[in-house]
Amino acid sequence: MNSIYALNRSELNQFFQSHGHSALFTDFVFDEIYKNFENKNNDLNLLSQKAKQQIVENFDFNLPKIKQAHESSDGTVKFLIEFEDGASVETVLIPFFKKYTVCLSTQVGCAMNCQFCYTATQGLQRNLKANEIIGQYLIAWLYLKEKRSNHSIKPNVVFMGQGEPLHNFEELKKALQIMTDTKALELGPRQITLSTVGFLPGLERWKELPSINLALSLHSPFEEERKSLIPLNAKYPLKEVLAKLDTLPLKKRQFITLEYLLLKDFNDSEAHAEELSKVLPKEKVIFNIIPFNPWPGSRFKRPDLEAVDRFKEYLVKRKMRTMVRTTKGDDILAACGQLKSSENE
Ligand code: SF4
Repeated sequence: MNSIYALNRSELNQFFQSHGHSALFTDFVFDEIYKNFENKNNDLNLLSQKAKQQIVENFDFNLPKIKQAHESSDGTVKFLIEFEDGASVETVLIPFFKKYTVCLSTQVGCAMNCQFCYTATQGLQRNLKANEIIGQYLIAWLYLKEKRSNHSIKPNVVFMGQGEPLHNFEELKKALQIMTDTKALELGPRQITLSTVGFLPGLERWKELPSINLALSLHSPFEEERKSLIPLNAKYPLKEVLAKLDTLPLKKRQFITLEYLLLKDFNDSEAHAEELSKVLPKEKVIFNIIPFNPWPGSRFKRPDLEAVDRFKEYLVKRKMRTMVRTTKGDDILAACGQLKSSENE
């Protein structure tokens, strides 16, 4: 049976039209599925017996299962989420002032083999379906409602979990349609940020997606060095990726984030900052320094605070708009680059 969360509005409409219903009927059902979802309270009972039967006979409303939920001392929650076939991913709920952001996975494992990333060590097992992406979001939202009822407003989204989101373009696109549909989750495109290592075929199709925010995992301005961190750079060199970013349409006050994982004694020198200031555009971008979060067996080390400040100063001196990202959830291996589909003891 199909998951109801696998369908965007036009697909649901096709189904209902083939069963003799109007587009208005689809709008009502779609709205009821997602509206007040966190209250488990919808008006589908108002439908006729026949219509209810058509839905129940063709769709299930099951969500993936929470296999584990670990809470960090800073309020971050890391879920291990299991799907019907037994595959699992990690999803992270991150507090930020009075709101939350949910970090979603798009693949079980990842094919990109980035050398600084724990997920890469498991390889790519499979792509997630749109309903599995939406399911992660709904689970995190329900958790907020149940455990932290004073924070039950819909969380923002970052696609920075397991997988390269643009490598699973079709399912990602459908999940984004459901997220931003005013009859479904009704998130503003600017509440959603997608991070890529520079998967050019996906960036070529960027205009097919709602106008969400984009982040590029940069990590080095030198092609060879970046290739040693991100093997994909051999196929899609940074120069080509940056040229593509330059052509993407941005809304007013919308920026592209350039993420820079700062690795101790590897990419934290003034020569790196100098090269960055030469190759990167200064307009419409924000540079985001992320101090590396170690994981078991990683060959890189986290830089100390002085090194982070020093690197930031190198960039600021070169007139680059720069921020340092605060690490959340590193005590439960929930921080950037620390996710893997395995149970924690
Ligand atoms: S950093 Fe992202 S793209 Fe690279 S291996 Fe990890 S999950 Fe995949």
